[in-house]
Amino acid sequence: MNAALKDSIAGMKDWLVEIRRTIHMHPELMFEEVETSRLVSIWLEKFGLEVKTGWAKTGVVGVLRGDKEGKTVAIRADMDALPLEEANQVPYASKVKGKMHACGHDAHVTILLGVAKLFSAIREQVKGNIKWIFQPAEEGGAGARVMVEEGVLENPKVNAIFGAHVFPDLPIGKVGIHEREGLAATDRFIIKIIGKGGHGAYPHLAKDPIFAAGHLITQIHSIVSRDINPLDSAVITIGKVNGGTAFNIIPDEVSLLGTVRSLTPQVRELLKSRLEQLTQGVARSFGMDCRCEFEYGYPALVNDPEMSRLVASACARGIGQDNVEFIRPSMGGEDFAYYLEKVPGSFFRLGCRNEKKGIIHSFHSSLFNIDEDVLPFGVEMFVRIIDQYLGLELI
Ligand SMILES: [Zn+2]
Ligand SMILES: [Zn+2]
Repeated sequence: MNAALKDSIAGMKDWLVEIRRTIHMHPELMFEEVETSRLVSIWLEKFGLEVKTGWAKTGVVGVLRGDKEGKTVAIRADMDALPLEEANQVPYASKVKGKMHACGHDAHVTILLGVAKLFSAIREQVKGNIKWIFQPAEEGGAGARVMVEEGVLENPKVNAIFGAHVFPDLPIGKVGIHEREGLAATDRFIIKIIGKGGHGAYPHLAKDPIFAAGHLITQIHSIVSRDINPLDSAVITIGKVNGGTAFNIIPDEVSLLGTVRSLTPQVRELLKSRLEQLTQGVARSFGMDCRCEFEYGYPALVNDPEMSRLVASACARGIGQDNVEFIRPSMGGEDFAYYLEKVPGSFFRLGCRNEKKGIIHSFHSSLFNIDEDVLPFGVEMFVRIIDQYLGLELI
């Protein structure tokens, strides 16, 4: 990277930290990112980008059209925080009770603003277009799906998209890349076993759905071990069991709620059909009724291998091959998957762990934090990726 670019990124650090802390202190939940969105659009306008607000309620899109013809590359940040109380004792801790940026989306917004600042200063060197997507509601609200439905990948038509997530499993200074599958489809189910209530002392006069649910739980846990190819990945977790009111009453029904994770459409459909079959089979064997509602959540996030290799080589040019790791998928979910269903791209990880600074906690923890060195680091990685994808030869 030429020294001037390197210097301008290094010189941005204080500004980046200030923006990140401002957002961190004022977390907003999904589809309520009003102030965050305002902050983003004010900066994008200052940088002279074409700015359009109101996407998916609070989303913001900025476009920089280069003077010369070329491809269009998009980069994306999510803006929403989480409903939990921050436990970090830092001067920039959340000022909003019960809300916290515990997934690092404050850092994602900041990094993208840094990239905008940098390119706006050298816009005459841009060939093609760069689109910045700031979306709401990654944490379960599928903000990305709404943005895609509203046409965020059109006008100018996006040829490739890149996104990153700060990643506490990797130390600061490292980039993690998923070559293909990166995160899982996140589906859920609600099963009802409908028996017949009665006195606990006269089970023969009732149909005990708790007993049937016990059988069904053990059967459900046979799906991953007996129906799925051991070389594929899948998870079924039953997270909630609901039924009964007292020690001596057989209830009318029991419900089971759970999450189902998979990395391929084939496994996803197999998990769904086996859940339905087992529920019906167990209920029938006890002479009971049942319902099995399977709700599709985010699809699996699947990177384009060529784009993942581009990320790897662009980052390695800056930080060396040793600091770029190809990592295994995670069974968490990410709505960036919706963009990748439409255009090639890659979603990668920016290490933000720093044991010396005590930054070791996982996402969604009340103690989650990032090493703020990831802010200029993230800016540099995106700049390198855009440079390589658009063939700008800035570096
Ligand atoms: Zn999260
Ligand atoms: Zn997140």
